[in-house]
Amino acid sequence: MRKIIFHLAMVILVTAALYSPDAQASPTQGQETEEESHIWEHSSTNYETVHVGSHEFDYWKNFLRYSRTCDVSHKLMTVVYYCDVHDHTESETHIEEVVHSHKHN
Ligand SMILES: [Zn+2]
Ligand SMILES: [Zn+2]
Repeated sequence: MRKIIFHLAMVILVTAALYSPDAQASPTQGQETEEESHIWEHSSTNYETVHVGSHEFDYWKNFLRYSRTCDVSHKLMTVVYYCDVHDHTESETHIEEVVHSHKHN
């Protein structure tokens, strides 16, 4: 956590150094905070499994053909980023794995 704060402080210092010439210029009205660039910090990573559907599959047993239902679900990974400058979050979701409830061809 201390490392993150240090990193954040460094980013702010660098940003302040880059924008220092503007500080001497006459301040523009209202939209200064809107134009500040985002500082995204990794906030959390969440995993969840979502059922997306089901399908039938056939299999053979004792020379007879049977039909069964297989449930399909997606294992999702959501990464959340937090921007301290504007106090908002952004998230990205990726499908990590497609899971079938039954083994079949
Ligand atoms: Zn932002
Ligand atoms: Zn399946």
